[in-house]
Amino acid sequence: MSKKLPFIAGNWKMNLTISGAKALAKSIVKACADLPEAEIVLAPPFTALSKVKKTLEDSSVKLAAQNLFWEEKGAFTGEVSAPMLRDAGCQYVIIGHSERRQSFGETDEGVNRKIKAALKSGVFAIFCLGETLVEREHGETMDVITRQIRGGLEGIGGGELKSIVIAYEPVWAIGTGKTASPGQAEEVHSHIREKLALTYGIGPAECAIILYGGSVKPANSFALLSEKNIDGFLIGGASLEAESFIQITREAIRAYKEKK
Ligand code: PEP
Repeated sequence: MSKKLPFIAGNWKMNLTISGAKALAKSIVKACADLPEAEIVLAPPFTALSKVKKTLEDSSVKLAAQNLFWEEKGAFTGEVSAPMLRDAGCQYVIIGHSERRQSFGETDEGVNRKIKAALKSGVFAIFCLGETLVEREHGETMDVITRQIRGGLEGIGGGELKSIVIAYEPVWAIGTGKTASPGQAEEVHSHIREKLALTYGIGPAECAIILYGGSVKPANSFALLSEKNIDGFLIGGASLEAESFIQITREAIRAYKEKK
């Protein structure tokens, strides 16, 4: 994983049949043949991982899962472990998405256990964090982010930070059509980098990949990615259409080149 390229990840959430996922992956792979200047990752639902993996073979597009459980195996009905994801061909796994925190009660401690499980199995973690609207309105954004970083990365060393992508996703911007302004996003991204620098040093913090997520669209992607500390996107809704996903990727590449 290197920060030389903008990092664009599509989170398909609980959408698409196996054949629908395969078709979407196929369109993205075809378009991405012309886009070697981005690190592209797709996160289909578990049921479609195997078929999408086949579609991604012979392309540079990487496969991600949307969740895992921290135990390796055993009596945990309905759960999927990191070694299983690795076996299924996943290079990445999304951990701590706000939908999991809000609807499934995930805590910072659980997120931390999941990140450690992913890294132990050689799967890179896409570690999501972000404040709710109430927290932002109460002026608690930076405290919430600091707590989530501390909790999520507890006990994780500098060497392991290279295997973690951080995704700042303000909860109020996810799936709502409300995007954080580039300034709002940059303020939090730079706070995240500062916190990483305090724990791991300036070098590792500079190398860390920090994504923005929350209603990213072709129209807002250039301005967001032009910000100094925004290295890419985690995209939900707009990743379900090949055309918008690719357009965002093109805009991200354009912004990344201009800011270098
Ligand atoms: C997401 O689910 O991570 C996300 C950012 O969704 P959307 O792009 O739809 O807001």
